Amino acid sequence: MLTSIKGRSVIVTGGSKGIGRGIASVFARQGARVMIAARGAEAARETVDSLRGEGCDVDWTHCDVADWASVREMVDHTVEAFGGLDVMCANAGMFPQTKMVDMDPAEWDQVIATNLRSAFLSVKACIPHFEKAGKGRVVLTSSITGPVTGFPGWTHYGASKAGQLGFLKTAAMELSRYNATINAVMPGNIYTEGLQDLGQDYLDTMAASIPLKRLGAVEDIGNAALFFASDEAGYITGQQIVVDGGQILPESLEALEEI
Ligand code: NAP
Repeated sequence: MLTSIKGRSVIVTGGSKGIGRGIASVFARQGARVMIAARGAEAARETVDSLRGEGCDVDWTHCDVADWASVREMVDHTVEAFGGLDVMCANAGMFPQTKMVDMDPAEWDQVIATNLRSAFLSVKACIPHFEKAGKGRVVLTSSITGPVTGFPGWTHYGASKAGQLGFLKTAAMELSRYNATINAVMPGNIYTEGLQDLGQDYLDTMAASIPLKRLGAVEDIGNAALFFASDEAGYITGQQIVVDGGQILPESLEALEEI
């Protein structure tokens, strides 16, 4: 099952850390050739070295996903290095937490550019290559925050993540002429390096609010992305899947206590 990814050329934006690192690891361990794209060299090199240590075929390239020239260069570089492009995992994102009353409009613009404009740019840059290959796959990392839930301080973030899903529907229609699909994974609370800094109390409280009683692992998101990228998912496009351990299901605190 899902063996079709072996030898495929895959870009993971934001693959140097967190969920992106999880996605890159899942694809690379299945035998894909993975290009990690990020701005910071240190984390990217560390991830590449670690995966190469496992025998994976991985490299990294510098990219700012909010910048068109940089995104085009990332895709062109990958095509040259790997001889083509099969899968784009547009995952890079940022989530500063600022309530509207304190939010500078420039912060709003930066979050929308990094999380939503980047989705458009990442897909646009793939189109000539998908057209040439007669196939392609895109997987977006959205979120439950925005499309399903709200959290004070994340109006811009929620708007960007809901916006990705709006983009997805029409993008799926436009990409179908190249036999390419686009789908989105919507993570709940995933255990990343960044979350560790919030302390054990925070992690325990979050885990208690999730029916499966644990935060997600980055590989949980990687596995969902892998499915969407596989040949086996070739007839699925314009869709989204929540991967959250049931976090959005309880109607009330009492409902959680009934479990
Ligand atoms: P993270 O640990 O902070 O990692 C973010 C990654 O994106 C890093 O590799 C970072 O590298 C890269 N990045 C950020 N801005 C970039 C830019 N302008 N250009 C290129 N790369 C950029 O974040 P994460 O928690 O893994 O989140 C990854 C994605 O999952 C995001 O889209 C986020 O919204 C989504 N998500 C996360 C959670 C969660 O619980 N963690 C839940 C729902 C959704 P550089 O900074 O070096 O560029």
